Amino acid sequence: MSTEKKVTRKKIATARDMAKFMAKYYLELDHASRTGERKIAWCTSVGPAEILRGMGFLVYFPETHSAMLGATRTATDYIPHANALGYSPEICSYLTSDLGAFTQGFTPLTRVYGIESIPKPDVLVFNTNQCRDVQDWFAWYARQFDAPLVGVHTHRGVGEVTKDHALSISRQMEALIQPLEQVLGHKFDIDRFREAVALSRECSELWKKVLDTAAAVPSPLTFFDGTTLMGPAVVGRGTPEAVDLYQELLAELEERVENGVGAVDGERFRIYWEGMPIWGRLRAHSELFAGLGACVLASTYCNSWIFSALDPEDPFASMARAYTELFIVRSDDVKEQYIKAMVDFFKVDGIVFHNSRTCPNNSNGNYGMPQRLRAETGIPCLTIDGDLNDLRCLSDEQTNTNIEAFVEQLEERGG
Ligand code: SF4
Repeated sequence: MSTEKKVTRKKIATARDMAKFMAKYYLELDHASRTGERKIAWCTSVGPAEILRGMGFLVYFPETHSAMLGATRTATDYIPHANALGYSPEICSYLTSDLGAFTQGFTPLTRVYGIESIPKPDVLVFNTNQCRDVQDWFAWYARQFDAPLVGVHTHRGVGEVTKDHALSISRQMEALIQPLEQVLGHKFDIDRFREAVALSRECSELWKKVLDTAAAVPSPLTFFDGTTLMGPAVVGRGTPEAVDLYQELLAELEERVENGVGAVDGERFRIYWEGMPIWGRLRAHSELFAGLGACVLASTYCNSWIFSALDPEDPFASMARAYTELFIVRSDDVKEQYIKAMVDFFKVDGIVFHNSRTCPNNSNGNYGMPQRLRAETGIPCLTIDGDLNDLRCLSDEQTNTNIEAFVEQLEERGG
């Protein structure tokens, strides 16, 4: 039988500098929003941020704001206000909690940074590579602020990413330039764009190295750490500050590996997390797994901000490829191959699939994938039902019981 024990979470020192970076990022956006000194572009989390950064926009990512609503456990209160506007409780709870909070004049930025409201967009730019919800989400705000909405429509369920796929996306990205120039009032500069792509690539490589340190036994890092440490990789890619931060983080984690310091004391089992985090339960889940001697050490989610194809020499085409090669865009066959490679690389004992009620795009346990992976690799899989932000979709008791039983199953296999 597994025995749950009280755990102390090990702090990562670089997290303090990351928090400072996030504060500066939001305060700069707020200043620009109030004074109009800089133009602000809203961008989806895996949207064409490098183009926007290279053109001189400040870039705001609403999904990160929604994750804050989730992590502060305020999201669930605001979802009904979006439902009242006709946005169903069944669609993305990032979208519904964000819209709902806005209509009620609430943002967690107030308590954390003293900021009254989210920054006003001068333009909103989406990529449907992750889902259609982002387009609807941005369309609502475009109407609200009377701001232009432009975007890229990506193929979905892609097996091999072909030249034709990449070409159609890169043409759409090039077509963004003219309307963005109109918003900015100045011309696009290819050299600044290349610079942003180069910095983004550097950030991506460092972020990958950070995540790869979890292959060490014991792992110096958990998935739960990763969900907050990834902030600058999402909102700061394309900036030199983000590069500096991930150099610092990598050095800290490499030191942990060298000294044999694990994120979970007495690591007995190594778990892969497939799907969205449950933002309002990050701490509880981190402590639950750690108390069972299980380290959730790698995830598809944190890996989603690795853009290895980016190349400043061929910026549009490489961006098109990088943002189409993402896991979420791909066919189930490609996804399964990917997870199998992760299981081997990270020496995983078990996989948890989070079936997120309002995000079918990030829920891969509904069409037999866990069963197929189990049959092919012998690795046990657990599916838990929950949601990224809507805590009404989650039964804590059932989740905890299922996780405890899963770890017992790993024990019985002789872990
Ligand atoms: S991928 Fe899922 S969580 Fe992200 S915006 Fe789309 S529906 Fe929401």
